[in-house]
Amino acid sequence: MTRLAAGLLSILCLAGLARAGAIYPIDRAAVLAGSRFDLKVEFDQVVPKEQIRVTVGGRPAEAVFGRQGLWLEREDGKSVTSWVLQGASITRAGPVEVVATGGGQRLAVRWEVYATGPRKAKNVILFIGDGLSPANRTAARLLSRGMSQGKFRGVLSFDEFPHTGLLGTSGMDSIITDSANSMSAYTTGHKSALNAMGVYASRAENDFEHPRVETLVELVKRRTRMGVGVVSDAELEDATPAAMVAHTRRRARKAEIAPMFLDAGVDVLLGGGGAYFLPAGTPGSKRQDGLDPLARHREAGYPIVTTARELSSVASGPDTRKLLGLFHPENMDGVLDRRFLKRGTVGAFPDQPDLTEMTRAAIDVLSRNPEGFVLMVEAGLIDKFSHKLDWERATWDTIMLSNAVKVARDFAARRNDTLILVTADHTHGLSIVGSVDDSLPGPPRERVRTYAEAGFPDYPAPDADGYPARPDVSRRLAVFFSDTPDVYESREPSLEGPREPTVPAPDRKGFVPNPAEKTSQAVLAEGNLPRSAEGGVHTMDDVVLDALGPGSERVHGFMDNTEVFRVMVEALGLGRPGPSTTARAPAGAAGATH
Ligand SMILES: [Zn+2]
Repeated sequence: MTRLAAGLLSILCLAGLARAGAIYPIDRAAVLAGSRFDLKVEFDQVVPKEQIRVTVGGRPAEAVFGRQGLWLEREDGKSVTSWVLQGASITRAGPVEVVATGGGQRLAVRWEVYATGPRKAKNVILFIGDGLSPANRTAARLLSRGMSQGKFRGVLSFDEFPHTGLLGTSGMDSIITDSANSMSAYTTGHKSALNAMGVYASRAENDFEHPRVETLVELVKRRTRMGVGVVSDAELEDATPAAMVAHTRRRARKAEIAPMFLDAGVDVLLGGGGAYFLPAGTPGSKRQDGLDPLARHREAGYPIVTTARELSSVASGPDTRKLLGLFHPENMDGVLDRRFLKRGTVGAFPDQPDLTEMTRAAIDVLSRNPEGFVLMVEAGLIDKFSHKLDWERATWDTIMLSNAVKVARDFAARRNDTLILVTADHTHGLSIVGSVDDSLPGPPRERVRTYAEAGFPDYPAPDADGYPARPDVSRRLAVFFSDTPDVYESREPSLEGPREPTVPAPDRKGFVPNPAEKTSQAVLAEGNLPRSAEGGVHTMDDVVLDALGPGSERVHGFMDNTEVFRVMVEALGLGRPGPSTTARAPAGAAGATH
């Protein structure tokens, strides 16, 4: 830093303009009445304990919550003081101002505490198409339902839901989110940051010591006797399923995340990621500690299944109330490989269940609970394939998501007590721009047809489950990604297995086009992302939320992603009733509950 810059900075500091400091939960946080959270104040200097004063609704926080805050004089050995009060809870609805002073610094945030009405839904099922973008949805509808003279011949299962909204997905730290951050907004109702879930990303160095916010699963298990299920065809420790139960700053802490499902009381857990459930030393294990999540599940009475055949036989057993299904050590295979091409890792894992089978099994088991259930089902590979610019696989899996939603919709149709939400956590940058016609000569771009020349693609008629048998037809959809690294582009589907558009650069600085894709048809397509990009990236475009069932009427227009949590807790009546949303006296606007 130059002397001038240092001088300028000190002037700014004196003026109070450049002072750091924070209160978590953050300003404008919506807090469910009765939910638990850690209240953390971060001062920008060392502050003596007796100088710290934190008020909530005008009253000392210690009096409001009935306990002392933790004074971290030099947090992580740095010359800054933090103050933390764990497990706080406010029962009365209304605006609440939180003010912290100390060391000459004053910090203030304002929360909205909201209660809910009585319970409207017995069950809630949340479907996440990870990275599901409007183009996936449109392509899935076209390929699975067909089109005649511009009119689709049918629609996807969630196209028919009565309520639809758009969600903003950005987090506290960036306009662009990842799946941990955005799923955490759905499962806690609080904003978070890239790679974080179930916590506010504070300045703490330990990944597990950030201020926590309660998840929907914890709320349900603490306040009701409902069942909980988590289903994903990605690794279960991956961001979306993990955000149902985990509190960590780093989604990569998968070994620590795996045991959290049992700790949280998840009754049905089905998906990939089995390698983190095996104890260290077992072939295929990715653990290095002494924990054995698989054995712990077994001891806790969970039947364990590893194939589609075992899944259906155990789930249909009338006494099955809990179930652990681990069908792949890593991510499961997508439906195009599993059912049609027999590529990917299908040879090694030939009997993986479909997302529809996992959804059906989870509903079968959970619906035996008379108190109802919360189930999350993730089509996780839509995102994985979109990162690899493999739009065909992403779209086939979108058809699968529609089929899985249909299983839930059929279940809900027999009763009027189940809220179903279908959404994405973020988008990718893909659009349908026309068709690719192999009858035309020349390089790939000259085979792209637009407007009237695009016509209609000639995929084979879909089978009973809505899948065309093959993607390699002579007139294919032209689906382009807006955000790419340099790649060899042929505009042909990857039939030998999931696409790998890049490989690490020889100098280990970033990525270069995969030489295996340098076919006679391919041309080098210059990307627009930095060389550090391995593939396509997430985009900020709004995601679509479709809703059906009791409580779904709240979904409309543009909503923040944290409001999805609110839709679910209102349907389940999880906010303790408060007298009013306009607490008159600040004193008493908050109250300790435990
Ligand atoms: Zn992603």
